[in-house]
Amino acid sequence: MNIHEYQAKELLRRYGVPVPEGRVAATVAEAVAASNQLPGPVRVVKAQIHAGGRGKAGGVRLCRDVTEVEAAAAAVLGSRLVTHQNGPDGTVVRKLWIEQGTEIADELYLAVVLDPARESLCVVASPSGGMDIEAVAAETPERIHVAFPDAAGKLWPHQAREILFACGLNARQVAAGTDIILKLYLLCLDTDATLAEINPLAVDAEGRLLALDAKMNFDDSALGRHPDIAELADPGEADAWELRSAELGISYVRLGGSIGTLVNGAGLAMATMDAIAQAGGEAANFLDAGGGADASRISAGFALMLSDPNVRGILVNIFGGILRCDIVAEGVVQAARELDLQLPLVVRMEGTNVDQARAILAESGLAIHTAVTMTEAAAMVVELTKEGMQ
Ligand code: GDP
Ligand code: MN
Repeated sequence: MNIHEYQAKELLRRYGVPVPEGRVAATVAEAVAASNQLPGPVRVVKAQIHAGGRGKAGGVRLCRDVTEVEAAAAAVLGSRLVTHQNGPDGTVVRKLWIEQGTEIADELYLAVVLDPARESLCVVASPSGGMDIEAVAAETPERIHVAFPDAAGKLWPHQAREILFACGLNARQVAAGTDIILKLYLLCLDTDATLAEINPLAVDAEGRLLALDAKMNFDDSALGRHPDIAELADPGEADAWELRSAELGISYVRLGGSIGTLVNGAGLAMATMDAIAQAGGEAANFLDAGGGADASRISAGFALMLSDPNVRGILVNIFGGILRCDIVAEGVVQAARELDLQLPLVVRMEGTNVDQARAILAESGLAIHTAVTMTEAAAMVVELTKEGMQ
C-alpha cells in the first residue's frame, strides 16, 4: 500500500526526520489559508497523488506570493496529472500539500528499501538526487551507495557514515544524515514499510539536510498489525480492479499480456504464468482465488478477469484439495453462461473429484477445452488465443 507525500512527511516528522513545514488543502481557499499560515515568502504547491515524477508533469509549483499560490492551486486541483509513473490515464488531483519553500543547494537521494533477493531491507544513497534513480543506477552505477544491516538486522552508524561520505557530504552533514538514516530504518522496521524514499534529500542554503519529498510503501500483508498505517489508504488511488479484488478476498495483479489466468494458490499461479511464458504467451494477470475459494468466488474471479479488455483467452488451472474440482467446474460453467463467454477457455484441473469435474465441463455443451498437464494447458491456451486474435 502506498501513501501520499503529506502522510509520509507526517511519519518522518514523528520519527524526528527534518521536513519543511506544510499544510494539506483540498480547495483553493484552503490552499490560500494554508499559505498564509506558513513562514517565509516562498511556497511550494504540490499535487498529492501516489505517482512520482510530479515535478516534470507540472504537479510541483514554486510560488513567490499568495496570488501565485491561488493560481497554482486552481490550476492543479481537480486536474488530471499524467506522470511517467501513472500511465496514460493519469490521476485526478484531489489534495494539495502547501509547503514552505526551501532554498536548495544540493539534492541527494536516500531510501530504505526491501531487497527481495537478499530478503533484507537496505539503505540506498546517491549524490544524484532529485532525478529518476533508475536512470542513475543504469547510467552511473558508481553514484549509488548501498548498505545492508548485519545478520541480526542491526544497521550500524558507521555504515550510514560511510555511504554519506561517499555522497560527498561534509562531517556535520554526515552526522545529521546518519541520524536520518537510522530513524528512517527504524520507521521501516516499526511499520513493515517496504520502501521509505526521500528524493530529494535537500541540502539547504545553510547546509542543513531536509526531506523535500517522501514516498512510502507498506507490506499489505502486515497492515493488520498497523491499523494507524492501514487507515492512511486512499481508495481514490486504487484502480477498479484492486478495489474489486480486495472486496472479494482474491489476490489479483493486472499485467500486460493477453491470457487471463484463474488459479488457486500463489505458487501454482506463478507456475502457471511461467508455463504460459514458456509456451510463448504472456499472462494478463496473476489471480490467486485462494485455498478456501468456493463456486461463487470462482465465478466472481472470472468476472473480474473478464473486465480487463486485454484478456483474449483464459486458462483456469486448479488443484482441487479443500476446493473440490467439481465445485470449480460448476463455477466455471455458471460464469461462462452468465457472462456469455466468447473467448477461448482452457481448463486444467487435478485433484479431488476431477472425474466428476470433467463430466460437468463435457456435459455443459460449452466450448471448453480441457488439458491434463499444465504444460499442455499453457500451449493450448497460447495457441487458441493467437488464433482468436488473428
Ligand atoms: P516528484 O517530481 O514527484 O518527485 O516531486 P518532488 O517533491 O521531488 O519535487 C520535484 C522537484 O521540485 C524537486 O526535485 C526539487 O528540485 C523541486 N522542489 C521541491 N520542493 C522545492 C522547494 O522547496 N524549493 C525548490 N527550489 N525546489 C523544490
Ligand atoms: Mn521526488
